[in-house]
Amino acid sequence: MFRTFSFLILVTLSTLLIGVTTSLFIGLLICIFILGLWVIYQSFQQERFLEWLKNSSYKASPNGYGVWKLIYSSAHSFLKKGKLRESKLKNNLLAFRRATEAMEDGILVIDNDNYIVAVTPRAERYLNINQEQDYGTNILNHIRHPSFVEYLLSGSLNKTIIIEDLSLEKKALKFSLLPFDANQKIILCRDVTKLRKLEVEKKDFVASASHELKTPLTVIKGYLETISEIEIDKLEKNRMIAEMLLQTKRMDELISDLLLLSKLEKSDPIRNNCQINISLLVHELSKLSTEIDKEQHSVYFNIEDNVLVFGTEDDLRSAFWNLINNAIIYTKKGGKIEVSCLNSEEGKAVFAVRDNGPGIEAHHIDKLTERFYRVDCAGSLESRGTGLGLSIVNEVVQKYGASLKIESQPNIGSTFSIIFPPIVTDV
Ligand code: ADP
Repeated sequence: MFRTFSFLILVTLSTLLIGVTTSLFIGLLICIFILGLWVIYQSFQQERFLEWLKNSSYKASPNGYGVWKLIYSSAHSFLKKGKLRESKLKNNLLAFRRATEAMEDGILVIDNDNYIVAVTPRAERYLNINQEQDYGTNILNHIRHPSFVEYLLSGSLNKTIIIEDLSLEKKALKFSLLPFDANQKIILCRDVTKLRKLEVEKKDFVASASHELKTPLTVIKGYLETISEIEIDKLEKNRMIAEMLLQTKRMDELISDLLLLSKLEKSDPIRNNCQINISLLVHELSKLSTEIDKEQHSVYFNIEDNVLVFGTEDDLRSAFWNLINNAIIYTKKGGKIEVSCLNSEEGKAVFAVRDNGPGIEAHHIDKLTERFYRVDCAGSLESRGTGLGLSIVNEVVQKYGASLKIESQPNIGSTFSIIFPPIVTDV
């Protein structure tokens, strides 16, 4: 301001001096000319300043003279500070969003009229909402499920609700409505799909196990009632006792398998300090299979020496025997069964059982490891297993970080392979 003022005084005085020494008209002309130039320069600088404000990345300010130098440098440092503050805020926001991503719950903040204030990335995914696009819109326009609408409008703070069919993926989401401040509420949402599935599986499992146990028990009860109520000849009595023994054996096998499954579920993960030479274990099972099979099938064993796996012998014996026993049970008399225990080229231990039995249709394969899942086949009730064999195999496979490969073709045969992860020893 002072500089501009001094400049104007200097121009006036100089032109006055010129006017006094030459003529007033020339002095006036020079004065108008200099002031004109000054006005043009100011307008040019104003334009340049506005342009810089609009387009500049504020990294550097253009050169200016006099008061413009001051304006540019002040504006530059002011804008630079603003930019710094903005990027700091952006970084903090990003860090906050990343932190909320680590949380199991998605968070949605809404105001008292249900308009969206903030959404964390996890809630964005769960609810198909976008923080930038949907900010300020009503949450009820996004989630129209009647149960959710009722829940939100009832304002039941601190209560929870589970909705199973909210999205196309049929995820089960648990919502909790929490108070935040006088004007806002928080909605927490958590994906409970796995938990719900487990609950359903647990209920189904209890129902199936009870049903499986009830069938032989009903048979035994019926025979016992008959024996106690009416006179029957010795031959018939012996037949009934034999049947009861068979049913008792079924119950015994079922309970043993259930106990084994529960033991496997509860057991700790495998520790890498106990190496089992499964070649020796499979040799042992080859003897057992000869005893059980009684030469009904051609059973071949291809066992490489020193195939090693970390784990416990009992788990591995159960898994291997279930596969060998299934091949014996389901392959017709005279069929061929090949058991192999080898080290693969990648250093993985591979145990496999191949048979030329009835095979399994493709749509059953994924379900075979479910508890009590049996393929409907022509086999009699007596030849039916517990329906838990492959669940046990699968439980062992998971515990060992291994994988179970099932290849099967109807009327051609099946191959069940367990592929163990390679053994890594500390050097
Ligand atoms: P189960 O006790 O009934 O044998 P599993 O879980 O061991 O129960 O097997 C599930 C089903 O898979 C069996 O009921 C049978 O239908 C089928 N299955 C298993 N192994 C074979 C096989 N080697 N060949 C044909 N079908 C098989």
